[in-house]
Amino acid sequence: KRIELKKYKDLKLAYKDGREILVAGNIGSVKDLDSVIENGADGIGLFRTEFVFMDRDVAPTEDEQFEIYKTVAERMSGKPVVIRTLDIGGDKQIPYLHLEQEMNPFLGLRAIRLCFKYEDMFKAQIKALLRAGVFGDVNIMLPMIGTIDEIRQAKKIIEKCKNELKEEGIPFKADTPVGIMIEIPAAAIAADILADEVDFFSIGTNDLIQYTLAVDRMNSNISHLYNPMNVSVLRLIEMSIKAAHKAGIWCGMCGEMAGDLRVTKTLLEMGLDEFSMSGSSILDVKELIYNELK
Ligand code: PEP
Ligand code: MG
Repeated sequence: KRIELKKYKDLKLAYKDGREILVAGNIGSVKDLDSVIENGADGIGLFRTEFVFMDRDVAPTEDEQFEIYKTVAERMSGKPVVIRTLDIGGDKQIPYLHLEQEMNPFLGLRAIRLCFKYEDMFKAQIKALLRAGVFGDVNIMLPMIGTIDEIRQAKKIIEKCKNELKEEGIPFKADTPVGIMIEIPAAAIAADILADEVDFFSIGTNDLIQYTLAVDRMNSNISHLYNPMNVSVLRLIEMSIKAAHKAGIWCGMCGEMAGDLRVTKTLLEMGLDEFSMSGSSILDVKELIYNELK
């Protein structure tokens, strides 16, 4: 079956109206690139950069991060690479920040919220990303966005970073696209408003399901309630895709659901532009999309 699937590797997929469909890969490190490239990913839909920050004693410097993001951009040879800014908190911790224990970490100081608190750390990452944009199609993605104010605050910081790079005389890509993850129900519900502020959406179904259904994604006692096919979840996904298209931006998905063959057809009917998943699922999803749309 694996060998048979290889024929889908370089296949370009598109809707009947010609709009392209990307099947991309999720990575957590440069090491993960091999599997993603080998399986014919049309890009990287999610680089979880928290792993760059974990298992160390201090945060990685701007230069260290630049080298990593540049390597990913170059190895994807011009294909789109969506790099998510730090998503720490929730289930992922970094000891050197000495974060306070919280009662509800998934509802706490997490991801973009934490980055606003540690602005220097956030700026180092943004500057590294803007610089890496010179070497490929780098797209900045902000996690855990719930409100328009958070987008505006993040964009202000990104502008600040560009000014600093300009002053420092360091090359960077000024028009690096900035998108958000749709993983908080509030963002999906206000997707039409948020869409005017950003260049793309990517739906993070792992968290979107957890927050919509109030079902902890890690709690095996209630895993039977964690249902990607729940009508409320599907409605939020559809609303997000529609709002994106109305605003003229693309909408992808980088949660586990993007690689779930039980829902591929539904997501195609909703017009999803990009499916991003672990390398090992890419060819199966490409095959299914090909067969659905031929
Ligand atoms: C998600 O929430 O669906 C997602 C892709 O992000 P993470 O799994 O890293 O929280
Ligand atoms: Mg998430």
